[in-house]
Amino acid sequence: MEKYEFITKSTEDTTMIAINLSKKLEPNAVITLEGDLGAGKTTFTKGLAKGLGIKRNVNSPTFTIIKEYHDGRLPLYHMDVYRVEDSDEDLGFDEYFHASGVTVVEWAHLIEEQLPSERLDIKILYVDDTTRTIIMSPKGSYYVGLCKELNDESISH
Ligand code: ADP
Ligand code: MG
Repeated sequence: MEKYEFITKSTEDTTMIAINLSKKLEPNAVITLEGDLGAGKTTFTKGLAKGLGIKRNVNSPTFTIIKEYHDGRLPLYHMDVYRVEDSDEDLGFDEYFHASGVTVVEWAHLIEEQLPSERLDIKILYVDDTTRTIIMSPKGSYYVGLCKELNDESISH
């Protein structure tokens, strides 16, 4: 499986990669984000939102599991499934994956069986206070194409 690795040296670097990615996204895009607490999953999501032109503040959907933002180029559905207790429970995720927006799922492995087979899996690894390794594993040709473009444009790979 193809993997694309990006090293970021600051919060702004990570935001910039997310903004660049957001510009390429089409309706129905699904992105999963894995990484320990404080890795940068929400930072990355905020970057995606910024790049989509969403002005509302994006923060972790602590009590809601899913938050929707409709004021950008595409709708953004931000899911944090950390508190989903029964992974087989149908909370209607599928409708989001096939809706016209971009779905971002934090802690996606908790609902692995419900994820679409074509998606962009992103893992953020903490290196030190300001450094992160972002590993993108595209599933499906559309997402491979996205990663290739990002990789070609990136100055920090
Ligand atoms: P998560 O959602 O994964 O728990 P957050 O995005 O909420 O993580 O927090 C990441 C924290 O790490 C933020 O305070 C951010 O400013 C900081 N940080 C420092 N360096 C980086 C970097 N290179 N990339 C992303 N975040 C970084
Ligand atoms: Mg978070």
